[in-house]
Amino acid sequence: MQYALAQHKRYSLKFEPFEQTAVGGAYLKFGCGCGCGYFETGESYRTIYHHSSFINHQLAMSFNLSATLNIIRLVFKPELCLPHLAVPNFNQIPIPVSSDLIPKDKIKAIVLDKDNCIAKDHDDKVWHEYTEHWEELKKMYPNANQLLIVSNSAGTNDDKQHQQAKLIEKRTGVTILRHSTKKPGCHVEIMDFFREKGICKSPSEVVIVGDRLFTDVLMANMMGSYGIWLNPGVHKSDSIVCRLERYVYSLLLSRNYQPPIPGASVTVTSH
Ligand SMILES: [Mg+2]
Repeated sequence: MQYALAQHKRYSLKFEPFEQTAVGGAYLKFGCGCGCGYFETGESYRTIYHHSSFINHQLAMSFNLSATLNIIRLVFKPELCLPHLAVPNFNQIPIPVSSDLIPKDKIKAIVLDKDNCIAKDHDDKVWHEYTEHWEELKKMYPNANQLLIVSNSAGTNDDKQHQQAKLIEKRTGVTILRHSTKKPGCHVEIMDFFREKGICKSPSEVVIVGDRLFTDVLMANMMGSYGIWLNPGVHKSDSIVCRLERYVYSLLLSRNYQPPIPGASVTVTSH
């Protein structure tokens, strides 16, 4: 039930219980402002009853065209979703940012995902267990523009008047990228930001950190940067996509695939 309510709030739909019915037991029926409904029993979310436009609402609000198109690249080059470092969560990222494959002296900028990376999903502040590491990271990269938060929620067109982005910037002291194309397709905007601010010129001087292989890490490899995968991040997700990502990662490692080395190959520039 909590999950279902959160989904409705997330998409800014007016939620109100309109009916409570026994359907084969203790089922409860709820509806929201968009006219949809769903059935739910006890604490477990069961299924969406889309007698009207709920599915269309959800698709319109959350569909990531960029990810859908770019994921096709993995069929031909699966190593594009392999990270240069995989750690359990944000606190495990070495400071300065580095790994066997990431040369610390070369890195000038860090791109951070928000949801399930530095913050809990759909929250607007650094996860309380990460605040100390967050401050340490900011000290290591003291130019305010060396860190950039790139989210597929805050700062996108889904974020009305970028109110969420402004709130997070106020709380974290770090800029949220404004971008109309979602990850993994917004790498041009990312490099434009770092070049305009005089931080770095080459994507091989950038590290992308996130909890998703098919968006964060794929973008890192598409643009010729380094990728750090947080698995599981703040909380482990059992969504189909996240389970698929974990399966693909294990499969590629078992077959000795390696992530591309930034600067060693041609980077992808199209969205
Ligand atoms: Mg995320």
